[in-house]
Amino acid sequence: MLDEMILSGLKVYAWHGVYEEEREKGQNFIINARIFYDTVSVAETDSVEDTIDYAKVSLYINEYMRVHQFNLIETVANKLARKLLIKFPLIQSIELEVMKPEAPIPVPFSNVSVRVNRGWHKVYIATGSNMGDSEQFIRDAMDNLDSDENCRVLRKAKMYESRPYGGVDQDNYINSAFCMNTLYSPLELLTRLQEEEKNAGRERNLKWGPRTLDLDILYYDDLIMERDHLRIPHVDMANRDFVLLPLSEIAPYKRHPILGLTTLEMLSRLKETYVETLKEEE
Ligand code: ATP
Ligand code: CA
Ligand code: CA
Repeated sequence: MLDEMILSGLKVYAWHGVYEEEREKGQNFIINARIFYDTVSVAETDSVEDTIDYAKVSLYINEYMRVHQFNLIETVANKLARKLLIKFPLIQSIELEVMKPEAPIPVPFSNVSVRVNRGWHKVYIATGSNMGDSEQFIRDAMDNLDSDENCRVLRKAKMYESRPYGGVDQDNYINSAFCMNTLYSPLELLTRLQEEEKNAGRERNLKWGPRTLDLDILYYDDLIMERDHLRIPHVDMANRDFVLLPLSEIAPYKRHPILGLTTLEMLSRLKETYVETLKEEE
C-alpha cells in the first residue's frame, strides 16, 4: 500500500474548451490530485529535497494548464497526469481530477469534471537476436527505451546464447531480458517495441525465422489479457529456457499470474519435463 499526498481545490485560470469564447476569454479550472508515493523513505531524511514538493507540483500544474490549450478536459487530465509522473520521479501513480465549474452549459449546474488514474507499470521484456551484431541490437534497444521519457529501464539480465526454437534452420540466438517501468498502456507498449524492432531493420518473413531483434512482453504488472494481437503473459514463456533463464536472473521469485509459479519453479519444471521426454525416447 502506498501513501498519499492530497492536493485539492487548486484554481487555475486557463483557456481550454471547444467554444470560441472559452478559448478567447478563458475561465477557472479547479484541480484535485491524489498523489501516491512512498513517505517512509522521505520521513527518514525529513528534507523537502527528498520528497514531492507540493508547491512545485502546484506551480507545474498551473503553468502547464496556462501554456497549453486543449479542446477537452479529458485531454488536459491525461496529458497533465503523464507529465507529472515524468517530472516528479517519486510519484508512482496519480489520480487527477480537472473540474470546469463555469463550463458553458445552458442549464443550471454546479460542476463538471473528469478524473483519470495514471501510473507507472512494471513490465518484463524478453529479447532475442540472431542476425548481425546481436548483442549491439539488444543493448541499443534497451538504451533507446531507457531514453524514452515514458520508460525507465530498471534491471537488465546478462546475454545468453541459445539454439534456435521452432524447427527453422538458422544461427544460434543471443537472448536476454529486462525489467522497466512504463507509462505506456499494453497496446502502446507493443507498438513502441515494434518500433524498436523496425529500427533494428527487422523484416517479418518466416514464423520463428531469423531476426535482428525480437522484443516480447512477458508480464505487464500482474495483468492477464487476451487480444488477437496481444496476449499477456506471453503464452509460451513457461516452455522456453531461453526466456526463463535470463528472467530468473532479474525476477527469480516473481509469480506467473496464471500458473502461480515463480520463474525458478517454471525453470525447474521445464528441466524435469525435458528429462522425462528424454527418458521416454530411450
Ligand atoms: P513468439 O511470440 O512465439 O515468440 P515471435 O516472437 O517470433 O513468436 P513475432 O513475429 O515477433 O513472433 O510476433 C507475432 C505477433 O505476436 C506480433 O505481431 C504481436 O501482435 C503478437 N503478440 C502477442 N502477444 C505478444 C506479446 N506478449 N509480446 C509481443 N508480441 C505479442
Ligand atoms: Ca519471440
Ligand atoms: Ca515477438
